[in-house]
Amino acid sequence: MKLTNKINHETQIVGILGHPIKHSYSPRMHNMTFENQNLNCIYLPFDIPASNLKDALKSLITLGIKGVNVTIPHKERIIQYLDHVSEAASSVGAVNTIVNQSGQLYGYNTDVDGIIETLLPYKNDIAKNSVTIIGAGGAARAVLYTLIRHFKVGKINIINRTEERSESLKDYFLEKMHFNNIDVYELMAKENVEVYNSSKLIINATSIGLFPNIDDTPTDLDDSFNPNQIVFDLIYNPLKTKFLKIAESKGATIINGLKMFVVQGAKSYELWTDKTMDVDKTLNELKKQF
Ligand code: NAP
Repeated sequence: MKLTNKINHETQIVGILGHPIKHSYSPRMHNMTFENQNLNCIYLPFDIPASNLKDALKSLITLGIKGVNVTIPHKERIIQYLDHVSEAASSVGAVNTIVNQSGQLYGYNTDVDGIIETLLPYKNDIAKNSVTIIGAGGAARAVLYTLIRHFKVGKINIINRTEERSESLKDYFLEKMHFNNIDVYELMAKENVEVYNSSKLIINATSIGLFPNIDDTPTDLDDSFNPNQIVFDLIYNPLKTKFLKIAESKGATIINGLKMFVVQGAKSYELWTDKTMDVDKTLNELKKQF
């Protein structure tokens, strides 16, 4: 039966809180899976500006909403409003999944699972090496945590528009994980060519290049890339950002954010429903929709 035909008093509601929200394929991915598994659940997008975040969380409890994903720009700020936070989410300092368990809000970070699965084939290349992360928001935090904890990287460079945010990430991971080899750099500085070129892995964890601003890129320094590098853009919409196109033209191995997106979604799905989302099948279905 079609999802919308079976909505009734027993329908479990889940969704996503973000601002903006129109780029997100999460409603599509989760509703498709509910339909395939014949679950009486629906996933809705909620466009919530920061000023309404606290009230939105109260509404989850009032309305009996089972859980939500959290996306730009709320992943860090939301932690203060939760009753319980998982060990990983607490170490990351960001939450992307909330479960409403009898009126208590539990926070998790499934972005970490998505990053691990995506980078696993490159584990040996990355270990002990230098990596550059562009961005210092919620997703960048999950990247830093994962690279330090699970990939044992040697050196991290953070490049971000707002320098205080990079500095605060550097201090945070020194204190939380005793990682003391982080340098911070300004976004778009010409000197960054050296930083990029000496990195085995470069990750875009900003929203620069995200739909609809697909002509934007976090670096216009074409000489930043070389064939020895792995270049990962967390963005999946579009599938190949301008950043990835430039890296590819210079011979780097490129990775988009789609696998990370599906894996993080599958982990959230499991937390809400206790059911398993088929990652490969979902990946193939979504690829057809871009
Ligand atoms: P966030 O917490 O809002 O952080 C946004 C980051 O982007 C910050 O570093 C911000 O810099 C930077 N930024 C945004 N607009 C900018 C601009 N116009 N110029 C320069 N810098 C800009 O967001 P987030 O949750 O970390 O998400 C970041 C990106 O990762 C998004 O594109 C999101 O879609 C993607 N993501 C993908 C997945 C996946 O599953 N594939 C999962 C999570 C996130 P400032 O600090 O200077 O503001």
